[in-house]
Amino acid sequence: MNYNLELFRENISKAGISVSPETENTLDRFADMLIKTNELFNLTAITDPDGIAVKHFADSLSPMAVYDFKDKAKVLDIGTGAGFPGMPLLIANPGIDLTFMDSTGKKLDFVEDCLASLGLKAETLKARAEEAGKDGKYREQFDIVISRAVAPLNILCEYALPFVRKGGVFIAMKGLGGREELEGARRAVKILGGKIKSESQVHLTDGERYIIVTEKTASTPQEYPRAGGKIKKNPL
Ligand code: SAM
Repeated sequence: MNYNLELFRENISKAGISVSPETENTLDRFADMLIKTNELFNLTAITDPDGIAVKHFADSLSPMAVYDFKDKAKVLDIGTGAGFPGMPLLIANPGIDLTFMDSTGKKLDFVEDCLASLGLKAETLKARAEEAGKDGKYREQFDIVISRAVAPLNILCEYALPFVRKGGVFIAMKGLGGREELEGARRAVKILGGKIKSESQVHLTDGERYIIVTEKTASTPQEYPRAGGKIKKNPL
């Protein structure tokens, strides 16, 4: 095993999640590819068995504790990097219709290699969120938009909410600082057509996670997302 299976099981059961033995085995094959590819080019700083078990796998699955990833749900992972949280979520929920998005092609090449080796089906999209969010092909097309470790919440909302269809959700995966980030993002959520649906604390062995689910209740005004520089320089 390339990850600490006992520690993984302890963490997901703590969060109220269970997965099949097949999912555990496929996660191991993914961990093997992550470790081997990471020797060739830098994908992640976390490659030890405990770190992969908790910080990559249990953490990526933690949104399952607060939201149901139903078959056929159209899901977008913004800034997926080496496939987090998207790849563990897809391995555990192979019926979802997932798009992995990142602005870096090399990382998406790795994601595509993993999909082919693991026999999984998903889309990849090399794009910047603030540009793809203006494209009618993607705008307001997703049931679930999810993102981890990409930007502070007020900025992330402007990247993410334009992709969510009315009635769909944006799931932001944060550490405990997420509670404070949320206070600074309430205005952005409102302007972009969202409404906070839930804020949940998930306990993992290396610390707390804070998962914020925002429902899309109105269309995002056409002027958003603004060009990248403006989003960062002058967050909503
Ligand atoms: N989500 C992964 C994780 O949790 O391990 C990767 C996190 S990494 C710190 C941030 C990733 O977001 C990078 O792969 C970067 O290329 C991507 N990224 C940053 N800004 C982006 C944007 N505006 N649009 C698309 N991808 C972006």
